[in-house]
Amino acid sequence: MKTTTNATGPGGDVRLAGISKTYGSFTAVHPLDLTVPQGSFFALLGASGCGKTTTLRMIAGLEEPSAGTVHLGDQDVTALPPYKRPVNTVFQSYALFPHLDIFENVAFGLRRRGVKSVKKQVEEMLDLVQLGEQARKKPHQLSGGQQQRVAVARALINHPKVLLLDEPLGALDLKLRRQMQLELKRIQTEVGITFVHVTHDQEEAMTMADTVAVMNGGRVEQLGAPADLYENPRTTFVANFLGTSNLIEAEVGARDGDDLVVKAAGDKLLLPAGRCSAPAGTGGKVLVGVRPEKIGIAHADEAGAVPEGRNRLTGTIAATSFIGVSTQYVVDCEACPGVEVYVQNIDRDPRLVPGADVVLHWNPAHTFGLDAAQDIDAGLAEEEAAR
Ligand code: ATP
Repeated sequence: MKTTTNATGPGGDVRLAGISKTYGSFTAVHPLDLTVPQGSFFALLGASGCGKTTTLRMIAGLEEPSAGTVHLGDQDVTALPPYKRPVNTVFQSYALFPHLDIFENVAFGLRRRGVKSVKKQVEEMLDLVQLGEQARKKPHQLSGGQQQRVAVARALINHPKVLLLDEPLGALDLKLRRQMQLELKRIQTEVGITFVHVTHDQEEAMTMADTVAVMNGGRVEQLGAPADLYENPRTTFVANFLGTSNLIEAEVGARDGDDLVVKAAGDKLLLPAGRCSAPAGTGGKVLVGVRPEKIGIAHADEAGAVPEGRNRLTGTIAATSFIGVSTQYVVDCEACPGVEVYVQNIDRDPRLVPGADVVLHWNPAHTFGLDAAQDIDAGLAEEEAAR
């Protein structure tokens, strides 16, 4: 069902061109070019203060850009006030009218525009957010998740071309947040309009969005589909912000077909050249990355059973924690202290306890390479710009 059919169609893509925001000498958003395609669920993800809300507010018209333009479809809306833009925003504080019932809260936008017969549209919206039964309740009689859905219905009834969501689930507890993530995704798929969602929660962004832009220090560091960002991070920030990464300092050696052979302490590892975002000249430094769940762990006595062709590091277990579905190991290796390994609890080897010598091993195809100098360079450039 396409409930808001007149909100679909062309014109729902968001194009930011060279948009930036400065406050005095502080740059909250560096010049940014970004296109959010019509009908997509797009997330701006980053830690507190990275500029994601400022970016969203510039799309909404609540913040004036210091430079650059905002287009919605073919229309340049940079100079338009918020109420003249075909966008609506849902905030963390749902801001429902406490004295109006749910029906009237949702009907509000229509009534303000002088629409006389609102019943059919309001009922459609309440069905969309599965609150048809609650129409005559007041906001305080609903749960947090239900109130949030009223806020979404109230925004969508205005048929915006783009719905902006500013940490909309921030006030909900974890379980409800998970439910609402799936619910919002369902609603977006059903109405088919562009959603731009701001969050600091990587799991939330990955669950809901088709495309995620990871922001850091007022810049988009990397943009892509969730699985692509997770499997192929191109900066240390992205590698660490989305899940956990083991990053091992290594030196680039010879090339072996499509792989780079890198040396980490005494160990040689294979790194697919196509998965290395660092300039990979011989003798250069790289950070070799591998996700904890990609690593297998074998007791040193079973080292001979590890299949040929896998990357391997030897080390000693420093700590283990059993967390139900998996056991997490922290392993000190010569090449890297504190390597994290997550192993599904199927056949646990009782010898894998702190102090045990082990071999860590993984498929070289799961290895990625990052520029070891990148963070230092970025820091220096930032300092230079501030001078
Ligand atoms: P949060 O998740 O905490 O909301 P955010 O990533 O959304 O963070 P923004 O609200 O976009 O971050 O703020 C980006 C930076 O700009 C922050 O360092 C913030 O302190 C600064 N900033 C925001 N608004 C103003 C303002 N009106 N004056 C000065 N600095 C501001």
